Amino acid sequence: MPELPEVETIRRQLAPLVEGRVVARLEISDPRWCLPLAPEAIVDAVQGRRVARLARRGKYLVWELEDDAFLLMHLRMTGTLLYDPPPGTPYERVRWELDDGHELRFCDPRRFGTGELALGTPARDAFFAARLGLEPLDGELTGEALARMARGRRAPVKAFLLDQRRIAGVGNIYADEALFRARIHPLRPAGRLTRTQWDVLAVAVRDTLTAGLVAGGATIDDFRHADGVRGSFQDEFLVHLRRGEPCPRCGTAVVKFVAAGRGTYACERCQPRPRARRVRRPSS
Ligand SMILES: [Zn+2]
Repeated sequence: MPELPEVETIRRQLAPLVEGRVVARLEISDPRWCLPLAPEAIVDAVQGRRVARLARRGKYLVWELEDDAFLLMHLRMTGTLLYDPPPGTPYERVRWELDDGHELRFCDPRRFGTGELALGTPARDAFFAARLGLEPLDGELTGEALARMARGRRAPVKAFLLDQRRIAGVGNIYADEALFRARIHPLRPAGRLTRTQWDVLAVAVRDTLTAGLVAGGATIDDFRHADGVRGSFQDEFLVHLRRGEPCPRCGTAVVKFVAAGRGTYACERCQPRPRARRVRRPSS
């Protein structure tokens, strides 16, 4: 699934191409994309309006249109937003025609991607306030903030990192990579991390996302840049998808297990498993 670096990569590519342009025509060929709204409601709000800014919040791509209309797109599992793709590109769900003759198409084989509408800045802010927490690359992600949010939480730290209402934009890839960098086991209960570990983890999350961004995101299967090119961060994974391969730090084989319901990769020498609660043994 596209995570923060993948969505931000697309945003950076498309922003100079769409900002200032008018959406001359919007065609929604798959009405499921904007449920529960009817396609006409989105078309009415978007068509004929100028794009003031293409922004991002967490994993959402945000079309800021004139008159404070906001189209909020989530790419989900397999969505890609392509600029002038070759004719016949499959799985098209939505098409934008810009006033300069260029077009964008949202292609999404598994059809989980969504388009939602917010009319007015308060509506946009309320939408995100209900769904998203800290924006990790905006200086809000500190060890102190994480430690405060995690106090008393017994859920594994990996589940904590994946919860978009706490940190926006981190998904399975970047959680595994950040925990490895911070030498923290994904199953460690979030509330049991030390303040020092949170400081290290905050830096690791930011560094991992930044490295992903520099590599143009990760392409494991479907993610493509707006021009169809693949990201390359998958070539730099330290542990994610590297089961059985040597840990780049100590050489121990990387293991895979389930944490937070997701396939999770770690080096259990560098990231020691949390000890089970001590059981009193009978003295013999
Ligand atoms: Zn190791």
